[in-house]
Amino acid sequence: MRRLFGTNGVRGITNEKLTPELALQLGKAIGTFFGPGSKVLVGRDARSGGEMLLRALESGLLGTGAIVYEAGKLPTPALQYATKGGEYACCVIVTASHNPPEFNGIKVIDSDGIELDESKEMQIEEIYFSGKFSLEKWHGLVHDIKKKNNIISEYIASISRLVDKNTISKRRPLVLIDGCGSVGSLATPKIASMIGCEVREINTKLDPRFRSRDPEPTSENLKNTAEKVLEIGADFGVAHDGDADRAIFIDSSGRVQMGDRSGALLAAWAAGKNARSPRVVYTPFSSSAVVEEHLRPLGIKVEFTKIGSIYVSRSLLKNGGIAGVEDTGGFIYPVHQYVRDGPMSLALMADLFSHNNATSAEMFDRLPRYYTEKTKIPLQNINFASLLERMNEKYGSAGRIEMIEERGFKFTGKSFWFIVRESGTEPVLRIGVESKDADITKAKMEELKRFIGQ
Ligand code: MG
Repeated sequence: MRRLFGTNGVRGITNEKLTPELALQLGKAIGTFFGPGSKVLVGRDARSGGEMLLRALESGLLGTGAIVYEAGKLPTPALQYATKGGEYACCVIVTASHNPPEFNGIKVIDSDGIELDESKEMQIEEIYFSGKFSLEKWHGLVHDIKKKNNIISEYIASISRLVDKNTISKRRPLVLIDGCGSVGSLATPKIASMIGCEVREINTKLDPRFRSRDPEPTSENLKNTAEKVLEIGADFGVAHDGDADRAIFIDSSGRVQMGDRSGALLAAWAAGKNARSPRVVYTPFSSSAVVEEHLRPLGIKVEFTKIGSIYVSRSLLKNGGIAGVEDTGGFIYPVHQYVRDGPMSLALMADLFSHNNATSAEMFDRLPRYYTEKTKIPLQNINFASLLERMNEKYGSAGRIEMIEERGFKFTGKSFWFIVRESGTEPVLRIGVESKDADITKAKMEELKRFIGQ
C-alpha cells in the first residue's frame, strides 16, 4: 500500500502536509533512486507554494549528485514532451493539477514522458521512509542548476506542426481560452493564434491563489466562461485545469461538454488524420458509452482500461492506437505524445472545427445523448465483498458484472450501466450511472443507493 504517493503523485495542503521538509526529503529519495549523475528536469505550475517546494526539491536532488535542469513555470504536458525523448532520467513537477487552491503536489515522470508506475513509486517511498539516502561527497557537488528556457517554445512549435494551419486560418474560428489563472495561459493562446484562430482570453493572468475560478474545470466552475462564450459569440471555448493536461470545451450554445463527448469527436477526427494507426481507442471504465457508440460505426474498437490516465497512456504506448479519452477532459494524441495534453486538444479541436461546415453546437449535437449521474456515499458499515455478492444476485442475470479494480466493479446492462468503486483518496464509495433516458438514470441511482445502504 502506498503511503505517500496517491494516484497522481504526492498531494496535500501546502505547508501542512506538503512542507519544504517533505519536498527536501523527497528530492533526496528521488535522487537516490535514479542514482548520482542522473539528469533531472524540474518545473511547476503557478500555484502558491510552488517556488518554496521547488527550491527544497532541487536542493534534495542536488544533494544526491543529480544534475538539475529547471524549466520554470509551464504546462505539465510541455514538461512531459521535453522528457519523452529519454534525455532525462526523470522529470519532477510541482503541481496539484485540478485540486483546490490550498493544495500542492509533487509528481515524478519517467524517462518516456509518462507518469512513473506504481512499483517505482513504491521504491522511492521506501527510500523516503527509511531515510537511507545516498548523498554525494563534497567534491561531487559542483553542478549549478541549468536553466532550460526553450521548452515551451519547442512544445508550441511541435503542436502547431500537427494541424492544418491553412484550413484553420481560412475559417478563422473565434476561440475563448480559459487558462485557469495558471500555466495553460503560457501556451494555449500562443498556439491558437499561431495555427490561425482568433483568440479571446479569460483567466489567463497567472494567479497563485486561483481567485478567478476553482482549478477543476467542471460545469459548475465554468459558468462565467460559458457566459463569456455566448457574450462574444465565440465558435467554442476551451478551459484548462491548473496544470493544463485537461481541456474541457464549451460549445457555441454555451454548453460545457464533458471530456468523453469532446474526446469521441476528437478521436474520430484523429482516426481520419492517421489512417495507419491501429483502429483502437483507450478509455477508462468510467467513460460514457458515447465514446463507443460514436466510434464503433467508424470501425474503431474501444478498449476500456482501469481508471487513471496512466493506464490509458501505458496501453497506448504498448499496443498503439488512435487516441486516449478521459471523461474529465484528458485527451491523449499519441502522434504528439502518450499523455494527456490540453493545448494539443485545443489545436485538434480547431482543426476538426475548421474542416466542418457546422457550428460547434451542431457538431456536439450529432453525438448520441446520454444521461449520467455520479454520487458518493460514506463507506462505514459497507463490506465490499458481500456487496459484490449481493450485486451479483440482483443484477447478474440482467447484464455483465466485471471487476475493474481490486475494489470496484462495473455493471453493463441493456439499457443502463453503472460503476461502484471505493475511492482511493477518501472513505467513500463512488457510484456512477448512465443511460439514454434521464428517468432511468435517476431511478437506477436511487435504487442503487437504497440497495447499497441496506
Ligand atoms: Mg491536471
